[in-house]
Amino acid sequence: MRALVLSDIHANLEALNAVLDAAGDFDLLWDLGDVVGYGASPNEVVERVRGLSGLHVRGNHDRVCGGYASAVSFNPVARAAAVWTNQQLIPENLAWINALEQGPLLPVSLPEEGVIACAHGSPLEEDSYIASVRDAWSPIREMAATTTFFGHTHLQGGFLLDGTTLKEMRPRFVANDQAASVSMVLEPGLRYLINPGSVGQPRDGDWRAAFILYDTDSKTVTFHRVPYDLTVAQGRILMAGLPERLASRLREGR
Ligand code: ZN
Repeated sequence: MRALVLSDIHANLEALNAVLDAAGDFDLLWDLGDVVGYGASPNEVVERVRGLSGLHVRGNHDRVCGGYASAVSFNPVARAAAVWTNQQLIPENLAWINALEQGPLLPVSLPEEGVIACAHGSPLEEDSYIASVRDAWSPIREMAATTTFFGHTHLQGGFLLDGTTLKEMRPRFVANDQAASVSMVLEPGLRYLINPGSVGQPRDGDWRAAFILYDTDSKTVTFHRVPYDLTVAQGRILMAGLPERLASRLREGR
């Protein structure tokens, strides 16, 4: 079975379309949250992902944009985007956002149940960021699954625990404007925290949309980067009257 693992789409329709085109055939979508917030196409993005079978974990921006949680912890730019998104979402998309479940969620119909989980932030606490070996130290030991796919940091890569050795993994791509991919096989006995990166607002210095395809039979994780129509996505943000920084940062991948 092939799972498409996406996180932090952030209402960027052009990036999502490029990812779905590049992904080809897949069996299930594992959506790690933050479908909306920042970008200018919240309804279109919700409508594309909600029709795909699989699982959807709620993200912190989903909670705030849906009106389910307060924006008090958000910076002014994120807050302005959340208020705008809440006003834009049509009732059925708002209801879908507010019904998203807290992670970690376990994918169904996998041969080895309990081995894989999907979370937005840490599998121990949904709003915690896992950006460093230090952040990964507790969750990679204490999480129930042996492999957890997570997002929230917008940084593609992750961590592996081999015995008592905890290592960071970062796929290294040549910086250019072409599609690129790199694969790794999950080894038995090791524990993994794996981040597909962000579809709609990467922050690892690479502007290309990030995602993972996971083959459950061969236990192969393939990290992908794919270019998308950046100018159109930026234009939509500016035309919507959202903060200009939300458009400029897309080119920087920050
Ligand atoms: Zn996010």
